[in-house]
Amino acid sequence: MTGLRIGHGYDVHRLTEGRRLVLGGVEIPWEKGLLGHSDADVLTHAVMDALSGAARLGDIGKLFPDTDPAYQDISSLKLLREVGRLLGKKGFAVVNVDAVLLAQAPKIAPYKARMAENLAAALGVEAEQVNVKATTEEGLGFTGDGSGMAAHAVVLLEKIL
Ligand code: MG
Repeated sequence: MTGLRIGHGYDVHRLTEGRRLVLGGVEIPWEKGLLGHSDADVLTHAVMDALSGAARLGDIGKLFPDTDPAYQDISSLKLLREVGRLLGKKGFAVVNVDAVLLAQAPKIAPYKARMAENLAAALGVEAEQVNVKATTEEGLGFTGDGSGMAAHAVVLLEKIL
């Protein structure tokens, strides 16, 4: 058995007026934001779910229940930092993270590098170990009509302890 572990994460949040849009820890000026208990950073949530899966920590709903007032409006980067700490405790190091945001608008390209830097910093890894990309879904479905955003992430962990 190798010391490598792969994980996949997926998340969805609804878009609504009167909320901030935070993606990968970057606040993006936009007419709508994502609805959720925390800052609803769908990209960071997908990354956390992938990491939790790879390390067999369950999922983020189990780690950070949305019924807990401690997590209300919290920065998801703080939660990611905690996931990183738990991984380290289990003897895992992050090899790489690859995440993709599914959103019709706004344009994400100007923010991708900062998102990757934020995710890497929260995990205590180099920026080059984290890749963030984005796609529209050609106007199709709930991401295409602007009612929500989704994100997928895959991660590779290595058991080092
Ligand atoms: Mg979520």
